[in-house]
Amino acid sequence: MVAGLDEKLEPIYQDVLRRNPGETEFHQAVREVLETLGPVLVKFPEFAEQKIIQRICEPERQIIFRVPWQDDSGRVQINRAFRVEFNSALGPYKGGLRFHPSVYLGIVKFLGFEQIFKNALTGLPIGGGKGGSDFDPKGKSDAEVMRFCQSLMTELYRHLGEHTDVPAGDIGVGHREIGYLFGQYKRISNRYESGVLTGKGLAWGGSRARTEATGYGTIFFLEEMLKVRGDSLEGKTCVVSGSGNVAIYAIEKAMALGARIIACSDSNGAVIDQAGIDLDLLKQIKEVERRRIRVYAEEKASATYLEGGSVWTVPCQVALPCATQNELTAKDAEVLVKQGCIAVAEGANMPTTPEGIQVFLDAGIAFGPGKAANAGGVATSALEMQQNASRDSWTFDYTEQRLREIMTNIHRTCYETSEEFCARGNYVVGANIAGFLRVGHAMAALGLI
Ligand code: GLU
Repeated sequence: MVAGLDEKLEPIYQDVLRRNPGETEFHQAVREVLETLGPVLVKFPEFAEQKIIQRICEPERQIIFRVPWQDDSGRVQINRAFRVEFNSALGPYKGGLRFHPSVYLGIVKFLGFEQIFKNALTGLPIGGGKGGSDFDPKGKSDAEVMRFCQSLMTELYRHLGEHTDVPAGDIGVGHREIGYLFGQYKRISNRYESGVLTGKGLAWGGSRARTEATGYGTIFFLEEMLKVRGDSLEGKTCVVSGSGNVAIYAIEKAMALGARIIACSDSNGAVIDQAGIDLDLLKQIKEVERRRIRVYAEEKASATYLEGGSVWTVPCQVALPCATQNELTAKDAEVLVKQGCIAVAEGANMPTTPEGIQVFLDAGIAFGPGKAANAGGVATSALEMQQNASRDSWTFDYTEQRLREIMTNIHRTCYETSEEFCARGNYVVGANIAGFLRVGHAMAALGLI
């Protein structure tokens, strides 16, 4: 591991290891936060007395359940689903659902833990939670996805509510899945409760700019980091990992601000296009046809495809990890820095390993951690909840403007907090401490619950 832990924090971390065996991603997420909290305990000794950190590390509620469903050939299939309701000091549990074969309790807990601090940083009234299933939507028919979603919601609905727990999408969960989930919730509860899920379709309670929000927000955060350094995105060469929702809209906004995007990827390989990624073609392949990124290189003469390759070997000035956890290692980070990378903004959750983060921090480049840089998605979910509560529907421009303000505020909060705690420009320190303080103060005010 990278940095040492404060002597008050080491036993708390050891306890987390002992109480959550085998959940390596959760351990990693907790450790990364604890590594930055030493100075907070010095300034606010009451947090130690009230065991606020120990309480934050223990989810308020964890739900694990069986999801039986029938595939198109009539065979019975069984998946496992999770909802970890981590912390509700600031508002109803809020966070996405991930459908991916790698999902197990440790992944959901790492994501839920990150979500507490990310949601706190938005300044909006949302607590932290996360859920998902080891169901693999790849290669499934629409009817199979629908039956799976209906079965999952038949159990999950009793735990949800617009004031209780509000899921949304994540990897493997988009408009289609949210539609089936919302339909089943409405049917069972006999309530058109729009605010119970976010990421809905525009025709039935969704918010404009929600689809774009995570990617756009990451670029707004990146822009702010560059501004501090007297720089901008104009003319910068960027590489983006992934080609899902976050990656596509990060590419769209970065291009609009004058950047040149030359590579993106999926879990099978990477595409390099020195002519600049053709966004319309990418959207057609990924959003409309739901095909693999390899197809991009087959259709575009200027592109090459690296089977099993990653985008981190491609020389660039800006790197945007927008795929999944631990996809950017110390080795990748070293190559990026050596080839002239000056900024990294995490569109995905925990995409850089702890050792990778240390390489970026040591090199002094601008590094925006996910819980700050990708908070635009969940922030716009909270804006969707606001619109649902007032039975209103805002314009795209207004919603995007709100998103931009929120990302600018998050950046300022992180930067100022990093200064206050003697680590100017270290957004890992700034994001962790600022997020923690907001939740910690609320927990202390609410008493021992
Ligand atoms: N899954 C997204 C995230 O990681 C969005 C969650 C939401 O909108 O509730 O923040």
